[in-house]
Amino acid sequence: MSSPIDFDTTTLFVAGRWRAAAGGATLPLANPSDGRELARIARGSAADVDAAVAAAQAALDGPWGRLTAAERGRVLTAMGRRVLERVDELARLEALDVGKPLRQGRADAVALARYLEFYGGAADKVHGQTIPYLDGYTALTLREPHGVTGHIVPWNYPMQIIGRSVGAALAMGNACVLKPAEEACLTALAFARIAEEAGLPAGALNLVPGLGEEAGAALSAHPGVQHLSFTGSVATGRLVQAAAARNTIPVTLELGGKSPQIVFADADLDAALPFLVNAGIQNAGQTCSAASRLLVERPVFEAVLARLGERYRALRVGPALEDLDLGPLISARQHEIVSGYLALARDDRLRIVAQGRIADAAPAGGWYVAPTLVAGLDPAHALAQQEVFGPLQVVLPFDGEADALRIANGTPYGLVAGVWTRDGDRHWRMARGLKCGQVFVNNYGAGGGVELPFGGVKQSGHGREKGFEALYGFSTLKTVAFRHG
Ligand code: NAD
Repeated sequence: MSSPIDFDTTTLFVAGRWRAAAGGATLPLANPSDGRELARIARGSAADVDAAVAAAQAALDGPWGRLTAAERGRVLTAMGRRVLERVDELARLEALDVGKPLRQGRADAVALARYLEFYGGAADKVHGQTIPYLDGYTALTLREPHGVTGHIVPWNYPMQIIGRSVGAALAMGNACVLKPAEEACLTALAFARIAEEAGLPAGALNLVPGLGEEAGAALSAHPGVQHLSFTGSVATGRLVQAAAARNTIPVTLELGGKSPQIVFADADLDAALPFLVNAGIQNAGQTCSAASRLLVERPVFEAVLARLGERYRALRVGPALEDLDLGPLISARQHEIVSGYLALARDDRLRIVAQGRIADAAPAGGWYVAPTLVAGLDPAHALAQQEVFGPLQVVLPFDGEADALRIANGTPYGLVAGVWTRDGDRHWRMARGLKCGQVFVNNYGAGGGVELPFGGVKQSGHGREKGFEALYGFSTLKTVAFRHG
């Protein structure tokens, strides 16, 4: 089969033009399924970021800034339609680049289209308010774009994260500079092509691939940027927030997690089981909202463990294009990190309940890890506290609601949580007691709906993306008071 990469991957997109990075430098992009070089991408520099920010500002001062909200919405809707026409092509790019099984890549492409549809439809529906005030005054608020917004995204769900962040920012009339991850960049390049074809005015979206410490750091520190949206690790999030602080601009941080699913003894286990496992192994566990901790009430602990173990033993890992349950991890580095956690589980004599199997045909150079279910550990153990970002779930017993909340809330993170119980009062007590940004009752993820605000507390970050909340985050409020007779 011919390569799905039928475009030049070595260019960046600034002011509506595709060109090489300043100085012509490139970086290799690897295929995680075999570890070999897949393509080369532009190594954007501070000079490229300068040009991208200037292009975004020019777009705001030019045709893009003059579009009405309805016209912006129409362009986003047209982009969404084009994405839907190319779901298979985008899924193949993501499979090659991220190592993601094809059906997950398709789901991500459809989600990208949904974000563009949702924010296309919402663009002209964010209104200011009139405020009852003193006699002789009329006061009102205007929702306005921040201006130039910077978007730094990771490699694990490029399409979804670009959709929720760039989609919402464009809907509110900002002009964007997007810095994709150096590990996975192809669908970001395809997205910029789609924007261009759909008629997005030049400079409204600028794309500067490159290294985090070069292009990413330059974008976060740039004085011409008025808002930053960062999705990635806690360590980098701190650097980005510090850079934003120097320019006193707002920043949205979507960081990591150690999210629990809590299974009470009265839960409908047949309904819960697929969610319990899928939310741990999806995208080989490289998901910020992965349910990496399963908390199971003690009376059903062993029975649940046995059923989870059965499912784990049936899981198959292999090349992304084979579309098995899991693909490889993104990189040799990630493979080393996850292998280190597995070694720790063995060294500390934790209970390895079950593992999935790597397909015999998986190329030796690929970064494969067998999904692993671990029990027999204390909630304070590193495996129950730290984000592994690989297909490793730990199972912890608990005794009653208060204990479940203590364990669930007892990590530095607070992204999402799932609760499985048939007790209607407990649904509410748990939803109120969990310290995180999203709670799912008798499900996990709710199908990922673009309508549902998303984000974390504690070290999982702050600010909200998705839904209408993102539109408030990607805009600023101006109060106008008229004095009249
Ligand atoms: P990372 O922080 O290393 O990289 C993320 C992005 O930041 C990349 O584009 C990278 O180039 C850039 N970057 C790196 N150094 C930078 C710097 N000094 N200045 C500016 N930008 C820089 O994260 P990662 O390892 O690629 O991604 C995994 C992490 O992302 C996990 O912790 C995961 O939980 C988190 N994540 C969170 C969400 C969410 O929505 N909460 C979604 C996906 C991933």
